[in-house]
Amino acid sequence: MARTSRNMLTILGCGTSTGVPIPTCPCKVCRSRNPKNKRLRASAWLQAEGRSLLIDTGTDLRQQALRAGIPRIDAILYTHPHSDHTHGIDEIRAFNFTQQSAIPAFGNAWTCQELPARFPYIFKPGPVEGGGIPLIELKELDPNAERLEIAGLEVVPLPLQHGSKESVGYRFESVAYVTDCSYIPELSLDRMRGVTTLVLDCIRPRPHRTHLALDQALEFISRVRPRKTYLTHLGHEFDYAEWGPGRKHPLPRGVQLAYDGLRIPI
Ligand SMILES: [Zn+2]
Ligand SMILES: [Zn+2]
Ligand SMILES: [Zn+2]
Repeated sequence: MARTSRNMLTILGCGTSTGVPIPTCPCKVCRSRNPKNKRLRASAWLQAEGRSLLIDTGTDLRQQALRAGIPRIDAILYTHPHSDHTHGIDEIRAFNFTQQSAIPAFGNAWTCQELPARFPYIFKPGPVEGGGIPLIELKELDPNAERLEIAGLEVVPLPLQHGSKESVGYRFESVAYVTDCSYIPELSLDRMRGVTTLVLDCIRPRPHRTHLALDQALEFISRVRPRKTYLTHLGHEFDYAEWGPGRKHPLPRGVQLAYDGLRIPI
């Protein structure tokens, strides 16, 4: 596939499910004025070969789409159906209006069972009165498939463990986006070989039941050995000014916290 300089992964949000700041929280990070400590719910936007792929329809999608200037969406890739990754789904209507068509969305078996149960008005609609519903063609993907063709782009699915459930990461060329996981199976580590940039779940320094904590994230990074890693799905334990190579809480070279609006050339 020919590369163009416009291929880009944009981090639309790098926050955990509450976002940061957390309403009511008086902690230093939640009160911080550093814009890099303000984290919308985790989501990303892939622009490649003139195509536009949205990863998840997070709670903050409207704000993210406006901020990033997303002009159209050719397909949606779901990582999994948790609320923070899906509850912006109604914002897809705006794209239906301008594109005049339904938008294909891809997810694993869990996502394809859960979304119609969460949003029956979208996936099992009766008569609609009022503002309309998002038009989405939900299709199940096989996370074990070696590669998928999504809107004409070759995407490698990365099966992940997320607590007792399964989520999916995605590799596109030299970049892998791996949010919401507590374990990365060998198959996916193999598929991540050679990536130069990794975006990786790291919710907080302390262990967590369904997410990678810092030590676990660093362990996986040392196995994948990307040139650059951006930690995402960050909670309010991480002060952007204090965590990073050479900072108060040092991170290994090449590892840093993501921030909303981060643009990663592919
Ligand atoms: Zn999440
Ligand atoms: Zn806080
Ligand atoms: Zn999740």
